[in-house]
Amino acid sequence: MSCIRIITVILLTLGLCACGKNAPAESSSGSIASAVHVGETTDMNTPSLLSEKRISVFRNHVNLHFVLSEDGIYCQEIRENGCFALYCDRLSDQFVVLCGRPDCLHQDQNCDAFIHHFPSPMGYWDGKLYYFLPKDFELVTDSNGVEKYKDIPASVWQMDPDGRNKQKLMDCYEQGKEEFSGYTGVFFTHGYVELGLHHIGTHGEVASVRRYGDLRSGKLLGETAAVRDLASELKNPIEGAVYDSDGDAIIIMDYAFGEEGSEGMDTLYVWDPAANTLRRIGRKPANASGWFGTKEGIYLDGAVIKRWDYAAETGTPLFDTGLEGNLILNVYPDCLVVSAGYSVFEQKAVSATDFWFYDWNFASLGHCRLPYEIPTPDRGSVFGETAERLLFVGKRAGTKPDYYINKSDFGKEEITLYEYHYPVMDLSK
Ligand SMILES: [Zn+2]
Repeated sequence: MSCIRIITVILLTLGLCACGKNAPAESSSGSIASAVHVGETTDMNTPSLLSEKRISVFRNHVNLHFVLSEDGIYCQEIRENGCFALYCDRLSDQFVVLCGRPDCLHQDQNCDAFIHHFPSPMGYWDGKLYYFLPKDFELVTDSNGVEKYKDIPASVWQMDPDGRNKQKLMDCYEQGKEEFSGYTGVFFTHGYVELGLHHIGTHGEVASVRRYGDLRSGKLLGETAAVRDLASELKNPIEGAVYDSDGDAIIIMDYAFGEEGSEGMDTLYVWDPAANTLRRIGRKPANASGWFGTKEGIYLDGAVIKRWDYAAETGTPLFDTGLEGNLILNVYPDCLVVSAGYSVFEQKAVSATDFWFYDWNFASLGHCRLPYEIPTPDRGSVFGETAERLLFVGKRAGTKPDYYINKSDFGKEEITLYEYHYPVMDLSK
């Protein structure tokens, strides 16, 4: 897989900008169509294709530094001396540092909120926060009094939701026996952590592995079934990664190879971590934005939202957005979000990102615009979702949400964008 392809995969859910009017589309058939009457006025209670449980994975699928608990959301902030965990109550707009120490300035590694020197993948499951620490070094003095650097393997850690009681759950490999210099993805889901580790050799050769661990026992369980079973001969760091969830099913993807714009097809599987087996779901168009579940998919083809049939490997048009440009579709249990996409080949600065919201009958739920003080090629995107809100990031590289809308505003033509507030660092201290 080329670097461009990897970047594209990551960018698939990011998006923005375009203008146009919404237009009714062709009629459709199949299971989605039974719930969809294109172009007609709808009630807001149309059942979605997506299970509510799906949110548990998808909410942090793109941004690994953002997770939800029952009570609020967590993200990470890069400060002068490292990366610190922040927390915001579900219905608040004020993030606080995840540290309750009364005299702490939240500026060094002794702070409960300190995670790592750089943002690290986080997860939340069953009342605990989890995070991944990549390979590191420490300076040690040997028996001869000589100082040298010692390799610290990548590891998985656990802490309480308030930042206390940090403890290491597992090393991701045995020190001195293996070497992985980086990671391609770390997902915490359904009681497991899935780890994509890779090492680039001196001649540029990539060695990668996917392994997983049990968050209950803290045990590293070995290679995932993807390593053993995937058909592709050209192993790469991304293939076999957790892709999405459909209720209790964890979906992983064997990415198609090929350059940007090719007609490749990704293959999806259901992964059962308890048995460590894969069950093939089917193939889907590579580079398609939207959502692909265990039974069917909904995705954007140009400006048209389509239903994907795995057996026939064809898409049935459901709704023509009438929008223009390189569009992106984000799919949630209670809404669909279309925004203009971003091409890795396009560096044109834009001054705003537009988002259009639809219900599952494709009736408009409104529009909002995310403006930039300075035009930027880094376009805003949907960052995550809670039961009450959609969260947006104003800069593509952001590790924390900048804005949100309230779903209770759906139905208004222009939906108000609210800002999240972050603790102010007092550098004078
Ligand atoms: Zn602190």
